[in-house]
Amino acid sequence: MKHFSIAAIPGDGIGPEVMEEGLKTLKRIEELHGGIHFSIDAFDWNCDYYLKHGKMMPENGLEILRDYDVILLGAIGAPSVPDHISVWELILPIRRTFQQYINLRPIKLLRGLDSPLRYKAHDDLDFVVVRENTEGEYSNMGGRIHENTPFELAVQNNVFTRYGTERVIKYAYSLAEKRTKKRLTAATKSNGINHSMPFWDEIVKEVSRNHPSIRTDIYHIDALAAYFITRPEELDVVVGSNLFGDILTDLGAAIVGGLGLAPSGNINPEKTYPSMFEPIHGSAPDIAGKGIANPIAQIWSISLMMEHLGFSEVADLIVDSIEEVLLEGKVSTPDLGGKNTTSEFGSAIHEQMTFKSMNFN
Ligand code: NAD
Ligand code: MN
Repeated sequence: MKHFSIAAIPGDGIGPEVMEEGLKTLKRIEELHGGIHFSIDAFDWNCDYYLKHGKMMPENGLEILRDYDVILLGAIGAPSVPDHISVWELILPIRRTFQQYINLRPIKLLRGLDSPLRYKAHDDLDFVVVRENTEGEYSNMGGRIHENTPFELAVQNNVFTRYGTERVIKYAYSLAEKRTKKRLTAATKSNGINHSMPFWDEIVKEVSRNHPSIRTDIYHIDALAAYFITRPEELDVVVGSNLFGDILTDLGAAIVGGLGLAPSGNINPEKTYPSMFEPIHGSAPDIAGKGIANPIAQIWSISLMMEHLGFSEVADLIVDSIEEVLLEGKVSTPDLGGKNTTSEFGSAIHEQMTFKSMNFN
């Protein structure tokens, strides 16, 4: 029996709604596998917590989380608290303290779904974005001066360390080595951003020399955004800085059916610290409380978590079950054109997991 401890942070808005389906997924995995046990502690660290306590998590919050094998997050953010507080005081400290320097975001058109790019073959939409997750454009270095004068200005520094850049690019190449297309596409903007981006490109070229079997392309971010639409079949592993990776993955989510589907892993590859798995989407205040959020992004995130924990057969079972429900087309939430609730959609997936898991035993 393998035991894993999970810190669950449901968060705000639809976060707790999709987390409920995620927790049911974990239960189902335990029932079906027999060799896996999860002990789960839930933490109410969210915007309500902030309004009560003046901070997003307790002083020793990170110390508490450090002892878990993995962290499962719903979504954070509410209209009552500025986003720069909720993100900077909860999600970013977790990603940084635990050196989750890889943000892994698969862009894969599931069987049973139509892409807005319908003229592409189904399998053309299957790649993964590796987003740098600890530095880059999301640095808190900078400041504002001359406020309330005509000379007011704001400066935000981008931070690209050799250490941070090399490790994310090396990870992306090692991932490309495991995939079939053997291609790596790096996002740059070295024509406009003339210090950090040429540095990034140089490191891509340096690391590429150790991977002669991988074809490398370095594209400007604006052109690359267009390629997501026009030539997604040429993409296999896309590696980008923190900001570029963030923007590209919402675009990626859009071409495979929407934000309600897109999962992510904040990964510390060395497993020195817990990794964190979460949907790409936010707390969706516009649909929160209605029980209609799509739970797939959360459930698929658990598939990434199982892969990380070394159970790829469970990871595959989850994605296969999601695909089966989509192929049947009987149950889905309104974002996919259906009429069902979050829990009805989740249950259909969990029943499929049971049905398909005959293979285990
Ligand atoms: P969002 O992802 O919450 O919503 C964007 C759109 O996608 C909305 O129309 C929403 O209804 C839809 N959507 C998102 N998830 C869905 C799901 N599971 N099912 C169906 N539809 C879904 O982005 P936003 O509106 O820009 O941000 C809302 C809040 O979330 C903000 O406070 C923001 O800071 C926060 N946010 C948090 C995270 C995170 O927790 N990692 C990520 C992004 C945004
Ligand atoms: Mn984002």
